[in-house]
Amino acid sequence: MHTRVFEPRQLTVLTTSKCTAACRHCCMNSSPERADTLSWPQLESSLTQAFAELAHLEVIIFAGGEPLLLGQDLLAAIRLCKRHGVVTRIVTNAYWATSREHARFKLRELKEAGLDEVNISTDDYHLPWIPLDAVRHAYEEAIALEFSAVVLANCFGPETTLTPERVKRELGAQPNLHLHLNDAGGVIEHKAHNGKTLVVLANTPVQRLGRGERELATSELGAAHPDLDALGEEVGGCPWAIKAAAISARGHFVSCCGFEVEDNPILDYGDLARTPLAELLDKADNDLASNMIAIIGPIRIMNMLQELCPDEVSFPGNYRTYCEVCSDLVSSKQNRDALYRHMGRFAELVLDARQYLKEKYQDHGVLDYPPLKIRPTTPSDPA
Ligand code: SF4
Ligand code: SF4
Repeated sequence: MHTRVFEPRQLTVLTTSKCTAACRHCCMNSSPERADTLSWPQLESSLTQAFAELAHLEVIIFAGGEPLLLGQDLLAAIRLCKRHGVVTRIVTNAYWATSREHARFKLRELKEAGLDEVNISTDDYHLPWIPLDAVRHAYEEAIALEFSAVVLANCFGPETTLTPERVKRELGAQPNLHLHLNDAGGVIEHKAHNGKTLVVLANTPVQRLGRGERELATSELGAAHPDLDALGEEVGGCPWAIKAAAISARGHFVSCCGFEVEDNPILDYGDLARTPLAELLDKADNDLASNMIAIIGPIRIMNMLQELCPDEVSFPGNYRTYCEVCSDLVSSKQNRDALYRHMGRFAELVLDARQYLKEKYQDHGVLDYPPLKIRPTTPSDPA
């Protein structure tokens, strides 16, 4: 094993593209009609490789689609993680919590398998598919069973009826319910204390990604970020690229789960059925476009491309988040081609940044560096 600069500290296993719901905002395009699902041999092989390769792996998140559709395979995967001492989380819509008894039964199974954290999604887009009562059953029983963290994930927009405030009123009788974002949209860090369950309401603005890009009306999305350039400067490189990588429902190793990036020419590094994880990790770590996203960040890349070659790119604007910009950067062939044409100019900056990170943060094998704020200047056009 050797030290890579960009390596996952958390790994999301996108267990299946199938879901019991087809929420209009789903960034993963999941639905009952889709069917790609990781088999047990795929799960076992990819997790075993991850444990062998990733010395700093802290958490494995089972998401989808709906991970509970995997049944016994999900329990076996959680047991495997437990044996390797890795924290586990599920992200579920709680379709299975049709009664308090059902909720308790399912959650007990998960707890006995070794599951640590439960994340339950609920908002206007989930409500047509999953009643709030199911969410209430799962939420209350998860707290009663003392999972180390229980999160209610709520996406909201200007027309939302199931707002974070209403979720709090209807489900959040917990005195220790914490909000994930403050009024200014900044992330509030919470840590569990004294073995108590950490209960969080993850209040995040709805994004124009995946099915949301096709189905949400502009009026359902919040206003564009008031100062996207300042956001790009403040956050710098994408904190999730490669460091929060994922295994897709068809067994591909991908950069993140910001949206459905399986098969994306930049963010999908390849099929684990054909290439060992170690090679795909090296490929990701050495990939110039991915390094630019992780070091410079999609907003500043967009700005630089617009400055360098305005006629070669198209960014419609009205962006709220990093992932919305990134989606237009990596999903559009026109923008990808412009990035490929011009990215050589940034190779030296990327190499310098990687060297800086190695010297400053990897002396003791520590890969945990703060958000990257390395400032690129747009190289001038060679005469
Ligand atoms: S948002 Fe969640 S519950 Fe809704 S379709 Fe997507 S994966 Fe399923
Ligand atoms: S900005 Fe791009 S690389 Fe980062 S999480 Fe979003 S989609 Fe993934």
